[in-house]
Amino acid sequence: MPDGDSARSIGKASVREAEVDGRRVLLRADLNVPLDGGEVADDTRIRASLPTIELLRDRGAGVILVSHLGRPKGLDPSLSMAPVAKRVGELLEAPVKPAPAVVGEEVEALAKQLSPGEVLVLENSRFEEGETKNDAALADALAALADVYVNDAFGTAHRAHATTEGVAHRLPGYAGLLLERELGELTQVRDDPERPLIVVLGGAKVTDKLGVIDRFLGFAEEILIGGAMCFSFFKAEGRDTGNSMVEEEGVESARRILAEAESSDTILELPEDLVLGRALEAGTETRELNGVDVPEGWMGLDVGTNTTANFAMRIGRAGTVFWNGPMGAFEVEPFDAGTRAVAEAVAAAPGHTVVGGGDSVAALHRFGLADSIDWISTGGGASLELVEGARLPGVEALRDG
Ligand code: ADP
Ligand code: MG
Repeated sequence: MPDGDSARSIGKASVREAEVDGRRVLLRADLNVPLDGGEVADDTRIRASLPTIELLRDRGAGVILVSHLGRPKGLDPSLSMAPVAKRVGELLEAPVKPAPAVVGEEVEALAKQLSPGEVLVLENSRFEEGETKNDAALADALAALADVYVNDAFGTAHRAHATTEGVAHRLPGYAGLLLERELGELTQVRDDPERPLIVVLGGAKVTDKLGVIDRFLGFAEEILIGGAMCFSFFKAEGRDTGNSMVEEEGVESARRILAEAESSDTILELPEDLVLGRALEAGTETRELNGVDVPEGWMGLDVGTNTTANFAMRIGRAGTVFWNGPMGAFEVEPFDAGTRAVAEAVAAAPGHTVVGGGDSVAALHRFGLADSIDWISTGGGASLELVEGARLPGVEALRDG
C-alpha cells in the first residue's frame, strides 16, 4: 500500500503536514527496547522510529524524544534512557543528547538550546509517577518543552498516559509515520479488507482474543484457531483435554462462539489433529494424535500436520490474512512445527498479510520470515484493541486530518 493511502484513511493530521521549521517538536516514540548489560540488545523499535525522526530533522525541527522503558516504579537507574540515546545517535550518525530527567528546569534549558536538526532524549517517562496517571501537571511540563507534538508510539496508543494523551491536548498533535502506517494497515483489515479475509488466531488464552473473534465472526470469511486457546473450545464441546493448558475462564465464551458460528456465514476452523507431549519441556516423550481428544497423561502442545495443511491451503486462497498468536508452544522443539508451517504459509500467501502479537512476531523473526510479511505490527495489545473496534486515546487526542 502506498504510504499516502494509509495516511488518508486514518482521519488524523499527519506529521507530513505539520509546520516544524525552526520549532521544537516533542516526539513520543516507542523506544521500549530490551537492554542487556547497559546496552541496547535489540534496536528494532529504534529503527522503526527513525523515519519520523529523520523527517523532522530534515524539516528543521529540534527533536525532543520521549518514551517509556520497562516498568520502573519511580526512578530506577538500570532503566535509564542513556543507552537508548546513544544508540539513536549511532543510527542517526548525529550527536544526540541524553536529558537528566523527564521534565524540570534543567531539561527546559536543554530543550531551549536545541538547534534545528538536533535531538534531545528525555529520561524514561515512567520515572515520573504522573505518566501512567495522565497527570495534568506532568502534561503541562511536557508541553512547556515544545511547540508541536507528534505521536509515533503505536504500542502505547491504547493507554491514556501523560506522554501519549495528556500532552496532546496541550500542543497541536500530529500522527507520526509509523503510527499512521499502523492505523492504515489495521483499519483496512478491520473495515475494508481484500476478500476473502482469513483470520488466524492462536496463543495461550481465548479471553485475550474474544474481542477479535467477536469482531470478525460474521465479517471474515474464515477464522482459523490453533494454540492452547483451542482447548477452551474442545472443552466446551465436551471433549477430553488431558493435561493440556485449558483456560477454564474462556470455556463459556467458547461455547457461545461455537453456537454463534453455527448460524454465521463465517467458517470457524479448529484443529483436527495434534502433537502431544508428556510435559512442556525439550526432550519430553511426544506422539501424534489423529483427532483432538487428548488422553490422560498427555498435553496438546501443537497442531498436527493435517491441521497445518488445511490452514495453509486456506491462507493461500486469502485476499487478506490477519494472524495473531502461535499455533503451539513454539519456544520448545518439536512443538514449533505448527507455528512454523503457518508462518511459512502466511509468508508465501499472495494476499495482503498482517501479523500482530509479541510472540507471533518473535516466531516470524526466529524462522527468518519477517521480511516476507506485508505488515508486522509493533503493537501487541494496541493492534488487538484497534481491530476490535476500540478507540485509542493516544490517537483520538491528535488533530483531525
Ligand atoms: P501473541 O503474543 O502472539 O499474541 P500469546 O501471548 O497469546 O501470543 O500466546 C503465546 C504463548 O502461547 C506462547 O508462549 C506459546 O508457548 C503459548 N502456547 C501456544 N499454544 C500452546 C499450547 N498448546 N500449550 C501451551 N502453550 C501454548
Ligand atoms: Mg504474548
